[in-house]
Amino acid sequence: MKNLIAYTVVSSPEHNLAGHPENPRRFQHFSRLADSPLSEKLLRIEPQVAPMPVVTAIHPQSYVSALEQAASQGPGFLDHGDTYVTTASYQAALEAAGGAIEVVQAVIEGQARSGFALIRPPGHHTSATRPSGFCLLNNIAIAARYVQSLGYKRVMIFDFDVHHGNGTQDLFEKDPSILYISTHQYGIYPGTGSIHETGSGEGSGSVVNIPLPARAGDQAFNAITDQLIEPIAKRFQPDILLISAGFDAHWNDPLASLQLSTTGYNQLGTSLFLMAEELCEGKIVYFLEGGYDPDDLWDNVLAILYSLAKESLPVDRLGSAPFPEESIDHIVETLQILHGIKPL
Ligand SMILES: [Zn+2]
Repeated sequence: MKNLIAYTVVSSPEHNLAGHPENPRRFQHFSRLADSPLSEKLLRIEPQVAPMPVVTAIHPQSYVSALEQAASQGPGFLDHGDTYVTTASYQAALEAAGGAIEVVQAVIEGQARSGFALIRPPGHHTSATRPSGFCLLNNIAIAARYVQSLGYKRVMIFDFDVHHGNGTQDLFEKDPSILYISTHQYGIYPGTGSIHETGSGEGSGSVVNIPLPARAGDQAFNAITDQLIEPIAKRFQPDILLISAGFDAHWNDPLASLQLSTTGYNQLGTSLFLMAEELCEGKIVYFLEGGYDPDDLWDNVLAILYSLAKESLPVDRLGSAPFPEESIDHIVETLQILHGIKPL
């Protein structure tokens, strides 16, 4: 029972815009989970709509009402960019946040040891009052505040989506009880996440941004987990580890070029799981963010699930990245000094 992995699927079929990369086709292969050799270790949780007080702990009621109103008039765009709504989007956003809550609940109550909320629309670009980057409600932020309300006071969020989670950072950058660490490809959307954004006020030092060059690849993530994330996590001593899981950092993703492989995601997942076992009784919950190739997405989700199941990844269908990896030694060293892991 304890080694089960809880998961929920919120595919939001009617939150859809033809030609947009964040569309329901992303979820067309989710049955691969139940068909996989891991199926006996997976516990599917039926999502509920997120309770309003849990949502408004992050987003003011005025924002939630404005989102409902905008969606009711849909289809349309919210941000002069590419964050769309349809008439189904308000309900979809509440269900995605609800799926996030249900999975953390299952882990906290001991029904499962770890979890993965497979939900859309994603969340990490949305601040308290501003939707952006295909995101409507900030699912992982809602989950973080929810677990704090249940007594898990020190929450570590690691965001490995290829894009910086500017919304999550904005929500928590003044809050010392939440450590936010992000790896992202620098210079692409949304343009934030420099190494010098380290939190502010009482939260000074509780934001760790790790901007990476294109083609950083698997070795970069091995170095980052060993030399940055692990020592910073040990110093922080989290009660639970929450992960913004974006698979748009895969080398074959159409939106970016950070060049992780499926094997690299599996290794990253293993490192994070070992960290969670050492620091917080293995409590680790993933929340889907990006990942825009409908086939590759499920290879990479499974790569994480294999790490949570402590089983070997059977085959990396896509193989290694096709280009040489960029060195990030100087970035790691600069961040070690900036965050006090290594003296000047
Ligand atoms: Zn992304």
